[in-house]
Amino acid sequence: MAEFEPVLFKRINKPDSTSLAGYQADGGYGALKKALGMAPADVTNIVKDSGLRGRGGAGFPCGLKWTFLPKDHPGPIYLCINGDESEPGTFNNRILMEQDPHQLIEGIAIACHAIKSKTAYLYLRYEYGRSYRILKKAIEECYAAGLLGKNILGTGFELDVFLHRGAGAYICGEETGLIESLEGKRAWPRIKPPFPAIEGLFRKPTIVNNIETLCCVTHILDRGIEWFKSMGVPPDPNNPRDPGSYGPKLYCISGHVNNPCCVELPMGVTSRELIEKYGGGVWKGRKAKAVVPGGISMGFLSADELDLPLDFAGPGKAGCLGLGTAAVVVVDDHTRMVDVLYNCCRFMAHESCGQCTPCREGTSWMVRILDRMRKGQGRKEDLDLLVEVANSMGIIPGTTICGLSDGAAWPVKNAIKKFRAEFESYVTSGEKSVTSAQELMQL
Ligand code: NAD
Ligand code: SF4
Repeated sequence: MAEFEPVLFKRINKPDSTSLAGYQADGGYGALKKALGMAPADVTNIVKDSGLRGRGGAGFPCGLKWTFLPKDHPGPIYLCINGDESEPGTFNNRILMEQDPHQLIEGIAIACHAIKSKTAYLYLRYEYGRSYRILKKAIEECYAAGLLGKNILGTGFELDVFLHRGAGAYICGEETGLIESLEGKRAWPRIKPPFPAIEGLFRKPTIVNNIETLCCVTHILDRGIEWFKSMGVPPDPNNPRDPGSYGPKLYCISGHVNNPCCVELPMGVTSRELIEKYGGGVWKGRKAKAVVPGGISMGFLSADELDLPLDFAGPGKAGCLGLGTAAVVVVDDHTRMVDVLYNCCRFMAHESCGQCTPCREGTSWMVRILDRMRKGQGRKEDLDLLVEVANSMGIIPGTTICGLSDGAAWPVKNAIKKFRAEFESYVTSGEKSVTSAQELMQL
């Protein structure tokens, strides 16, 4: 197969990749010019027909989401750009913001034209100071060049983009938590429906899109639907609910590999290829025991599931929640799953906002049970107890407001199902885990 030529990452290693002059020298803002010559509904239709699915984790069809806005709304309509990237192992959006900010700003402007918004808020993870500085400069350059503000490119289109630094919590990335935080409140997710498209920021219709999604929009307008659909995985004929997974995707590879990195490839690459070809293989000459396909909330692929394609439908075939953020985290065969799971649960318990009892209590109890197991005081019944607690948490049984609880429960259920024999032998041996806190951070 011919080497894939990057699209989203095409400019990232160029010395002038962040400047407006450099971006325009590479044809930048041509897609915006094209979009502004079209009716907003036509731009939305192009994005819809391209099959672009949101890259933030849920894979919701992007153009379809835009059509949920109320028709002929007198305004205002807002675009919120979710740059609160905090799923463990996920760093694709940081690279896009730091290395090619104008690609993103162009996508924001095209999206705002399509949804008839004059105001966009880019909500940025607090820890991303470098992204903040680079984006701030890029936005200032755009205002000075007439690419933001009033009468953009002489077309009468106007747009203001505001940068907002987040509050340093995972839950700020949940779209309604993000909206609450933007409004100056604690980032407590809201009950949906109403979805933000109907009632979002300041109770007005709002679209929340991820950074990588909006960068894809730039290229779809530039190169067209056919080009976008020439990459990726078509719909599964055996699954009428699968619309396919088209286009390029940024895969983050981390954990126990020789070369942690982020690579751009067509949707549908396998974890094995990512680990061996791009991640430099499993470190220390070891083998992979498990792989997280897209952030810890998705669950685990076992060693014999590494040839499944990583498109939106692929990981689900192995019982994972989905592709998530395509953050592939590798666990080597010297690592105990009890430690991996403890670390996942500790993270989720820390990040639960505490509004819903099943999430607040469930995450905390799962940590305590796993901690007891790690101290050599586990019982075989603890495995069923963990599953019972996990089953009581989540939107699916209808007990919680947002998806964090499902995301905390799923890896527990999934790991116990796939690695039950290992857990049982660990608890019956009475062995204590000696993994240090520092090593745990790397799991
Ligand atoms: P979701 O499926 O509830 O919603 C996806 C999007 O579609 C949202 O914007 C939602 O408003 C919209 N939507 C869905 N149904 C709709 C309807 N009927 N009408 C109008 N709009 C509708 O998922 P979510 O809770 O937004 O996201 C969950 C995902 O986020 C997880 O899969 C996880 O992978 C990911 N995540 C990512 C990060 C990160 O750092 N990128 C962090 C945490 C979680
Ligand atoms: Fe908060 Fe958890 Fe409820 Fe989400 S599910 S609103 S994180 S308590």
